[in-house]
Amino acid sequence: MVGSPKCCNFVGWTTNSQKNRKSMELTLIILKPSSLQRALVGRVLNRFEQKGLFIYGLKMMQLDETILREHYAHLVDKPFFPSLVKSMTSTPVIVGAIGGKDAVACVRSIVGATNCRNAAPGTIRGDFGMSGQENIIHASDSVENARIEINRFFKPDEIFDYTPAIIHSVYSPDEIS
Ligand code: UDP
Ligand code: MG
Repeated sequence: MVGSPKCCNFVGWTTNSQKNRKSMELTLIILKPSSLQRALVGRVLNRFEQKGLFIYGLKMMQLDETILREHYAHLVDKPFFPSLVKSMTSTPVIVGAIGGKDAVACVRSIVGATNCRNAAPGTIRGDFGMSGQENIIHASDSVENARIEINRFFKPDEIFDYTPAIIHSVYSPDEIS
């Protein structure tokens, strides 16, 4: 894990330019090859934008087994791991840093249960998938893992600090102070 990159300041904002977002979190999403192959990228990203979450980093990249062994360290001994690596390396992916108040839990709830067949309608996996593995999107599962994962996939200067013009329509003043 990288030292103290800029993106780690997202939880507990300290600088003046970021004072309106000091209670905000940043979380990592990965639009998996199943999103790209099925041309769902725009519709998936729109779920977060329409909710009132904001995109602070976004890029396409090709994953390899090395980074997946880190990212999915909790799964390397599972029988499906080779198949997961094959799937996740089959096309480039799109990684995103999504921010907002309680963004980690909000994004997980928008994403839905791991197996798309069990995911509730209205969630991304519930609406767009039928598979446990080809499940469209990854999202960080805790604030601590979000920090680690953002640092894994983004360089500090790939996370952009800006204040969305609509922030005061998305939140009440007490929610962002
Ligand atoms: N996965 C799989 N088979 C399983 C469980 C998980 O192929 O039985 C894949 C699936 O793509 C999932 C990923 O491994 O999204 C990571 O699993 P995790 O349990 O962390 O689920 P997630 O956090 O993605 O909901
Ligand atoms: Mg997970």
